[in-house]
Amino acid sequence: MRIIRYPHPTLRHKSKPLRRVDAELQKMIRQMFDLMYEEEGIGLAANQVDLPYRLFVINVQSDPAAKDEEMVFINPVITQPKGTAEDREGCLSLPELYAPVRRPEKITISAYNAAGQEFSYQMDGLYARVVQHEYDHLDGILFIDRLTAANLLAVKEALGELEAEFCGERRRGIIPDEQQIAARLAELEGARA
Ligand code: ZN
Repeated sequence: MRIIRYPHPTLRHKSKPLRRVDAELQKMIRQMFDLMYEEEGIGLAANQVDLPYRLFVINVQSDPAAKDEEMVFINPVITQPKGTAEDREGCLSLPELYAPVRRPEKITISAYNAAGQEFSYQMDGLYARVVQHEYDHLDGILFIDRLTAANLLAVKEALGELEAEFCGERRRGIIPDEQQIAARLAELEGARA
């Protein structure tokens, strides 16, 4: 498992709901947490590890010792957005790139946990921001899609560098072509959706 970077096509994939939670999925969830801690992130969505599943994990402390902060969201649904808040965001798939993003300040999120149990939370502050950012990934949306024109212009050069890196990796055969990526996602999704 590895974290893919912008502009990898899987980051633009809109995932379908998962139909079951099993030991294989639980193993992937554990790997996602481990990878997230390694990269010092506070959230990681399945798309970011090249998997087409409606699943993400968070730990706002980014600390493997803070087990009670580990949260898993399977097939999440966000409702009751209230207010507006702006804060700086970053993303493990867009390294070293940060910009202010405006989002609802409070939300309600319902999902299933790693044990397959349904839960619902009202969230605000950093929690609300992180889950909205991760939820966006499941729909193929990146935080750069939510920037003002001025803020997008400010990160354009950094985006260009990531695009150039991606093209280089593709030329060297590290990243498969569009059709291979699409076929793999369809196969994985077909087995679990
Ligand atoms: Zn992200």
